[in-house]
Formats: sequence, structure tokens, C-alpha cells
Amino acid sequence: MRNGAEPAAWVEIELDALGQNYREAVRRAGPEKMLIASIKANAYGHGAVACAERLAAEGAAMLATGDIAEAAAIREAGVDTRILMFGGFAPDSVDSILAHDLEPTVCNDETVAAVARASRGSAPVHVKVDCGLGRLGVALDEAESFILRTARTPGIEVAGVYTHVPFFDEDGRAWAMARVASFEALLDRLSAAGLAVPMTQALASSALLCGDNDRTNAVCVGHILYGLSSMAPGLADMSGFRPVLRAVRARLVHVAQHAAGRDVMIGGHYGLANAMTTGVAPMGMQQGNRGAAPGQAAQAIVAGRRAPVMSVSLEHATLDLSAHENPALGAIVTFLGAAGDDMIPIEELAAWQGRTPLETAMTFSGHLPVRHEAGSM
Ligand SMILES: *Cc1c(COP(=O)(O)O)cnc(C)c1O
Repeated sequence: MRNGAEPAAWVEIELDALGQNYREAVRRAGPEKMLIASIKANAYGHGAVACAERLAAEGAAMLATGDIAEAAAIREAGVDTRILMFGGFAPDSVDSILAHDLEPTVCNDETVAAVARASRGSAPVHVKVDCGLGRLGVALDEAESFILRTARTPGIEVAGVYTHVPFFDEDGRAWAMARVASFEALLDRLSAAGLAVPMTQALASSALLCGDNDRTNAVCVGHILYGLSSMAPGLADMSGFRPVLRAVRARLVHVAQHAAGRDVMIGGHYGLANAMTTGVAPMGMQQGNRGAAPGQAAQAIVAGRRAPVMSVSLEHATLDLSAHENPALGAIVTFLGAAGDDMIPIEELAAWQGRTPLETAMTFSGHLPVRHEAGSM
């Protein structure tokens, strides 16, 4: 990106921050736990392949995603760390899962049979148990017999048993930890029945942020690896974690002076009472930007000074540059991140958009060229 044409809009990703967050997650999980790094959904919008390469280099025990194409791209990039496939899949995708050396999740007999048919040798599978999220998994009260039956199926090895009970606030935390206790009881029944399960996991980011632990031997985290809190604002101890998405920027591609009284319509307002200078940057919905939520007003930083964002259309953001002296074509517009002494954190941009920080990171996902920034470490 430093050669040839500079892009008109880009995101800045700092993989050293991902590395630091990974090490902090390991520290919080404690020495007893294997760490599984969730890179689903394009690594929460941060770029699946580059993040997978870094997390593998940091020593992650396993990566996890629900998307076969994403996992295949990671394999093609040369990453040979184990990859857990979250979620359900159609029985006819079993061949490509096994061909890429991915470890599928099973939670019904049809899928177990499909894996057994495709297996050459002993295919590792992970059983997901629904302890109460009501989304995916074999029901808790059927789990013991299902897992024992699966373990006896030729061509299959039960490499792991897991559940997922994410939570967001204190009420959710109490619910989740009670569900984890019921999962631990299931694991006790499995071991009493003589089944040794190599990898067990129930906890995710929120538990590490709250200092909760359990009797499984692994944790699977996503949010905190990217410096995002999975808890309601103010409830998490995010010390030691920092954003991996460092900035979202574009260049001014047009500046216009409008005389007072001119009959223009900008951002839904007709006619100008006062003279105004506007600027346009290619940071529209196509690039992942979104307009402000009702009652909110968004800003960007141009030449060290905040500028109101008046509208976000399909391909452009229109800024009010009236307070700026001679804004220059090509000047950098910062929609997220640090610029000079100022800084727009993702929490601030997300609040303007009426979203969570994760939702805001996801809207930019995959839409803009990525610049990998060297870290401060
Ligand atoms: C996404 C996911 C995780 C990671 O959750 P975070 O809250 O992002 O840490 C863990 N386990 C399962 C099964 C998941 O789907």
C-alpha cells in the first residue's frame, strides 16, 4: 500500500495488539487452560487469514470458525493449527471439512453418520451441547447418551465436548454460571461412564472479563482478542486489552463553498441560512459506514479538528468543514481512531450509530483495503 496509488479509504489493523490481547487472554485463563481463538465472521471483522496467522504464531491451541470457506483460506495460507468448525453444516459439506483437516461440530445423528461415512481413519469431532442458549447443540438431557453413542461410532473420535453460554450483564452471568455447572455435571457423568474427552470448554470472553472459571480444560474467546468488550458498557475489566482495529480513514475528494441562501439540500436540510463549506470523503455505506442514529450526531477528524458528519450515503460521507480553514483536497479524514492529539474510540462511533462496538466493527468488515500498522510494542 505504500507503493503505487494510495487508496482513497482504508482501515488500519494492528496485529501486535492482537498478539498482546492473546497473551492477556492466556494470562487471565490461567496455566491450566488451552486457548481456542475464535476467528469466526472474518475474525470479528478484522481479517480472518491475517489474524489466524498471528494467533497460530502466538501458539493458540486451536482456531474456531463456522465458515468452511474461511477455514479453507486459512489452510491455503499455510496455517496448520487445529481448526474447530462451529455450528451446524449440511451433510454434503463433510468431504470438504475433512479434506481441509477441519474438526466438525456434531449435534445430531445424521451429521455423525455423514462424518463416519466420509472418514478415512478416525475423524475428530466435537459435540456441542445446548445448555440453555437454545440455538445449536444436542439438548443437555440427551447429551450423555448421544456422546457415548457417537464415541462408539467407527471412524469417529470425540475430540471435544463444549457448550456456549455467552452473557452480557450480571443477570446473564448468574444464569451462565449455573448452566456451566450443569455442563460440568455432564462431564462428570461421561468420565464415570469411562469416556475421556480430550478437550472440554464452556467459557468465552465475558467469563474471562469477570474472572469466572470452571472445571473444563479449554476456553474459547473472540471479543477480547480484538480488544472488544462482550459485556455491557462499564461492566468489564478491559485492562491489558486494546483495539486491533486502530483506524478507519479516507481522503477528502471534494470541497465546496456554499453561499448563504443557496438552495441546496444537505443531510435532509433544505436551503442554507449561513454560508457553509462541505467536504466529501468516500466513506459511505458501501465502505461500511453508517449514518447517525436518531438524536445522535456523528463526527470525523480533519486536520486535527472535529467536523460534523452531515450525511452518509451509499458511497460518500458529507462533512461540514465550515470551521476549517482552507481544507485541502486529499486531506485525511479520520472516522475512527487517533488523529494528532484527538481520538475517536470505537465506543464513541458505535454510540453515534446506535450500535455496539462489535456491530460497528462488523459493518466495516471486508469492505476496505487493510493497512497493517506496526505496533507500539
Ligand atoms: C463465538 C463463540 C465463542 C467466543 O465468544 P466471545 O464472546 O466472542 O468470546 C465461544 N464459543 C462458541 C461456541 C462461539 O460460537
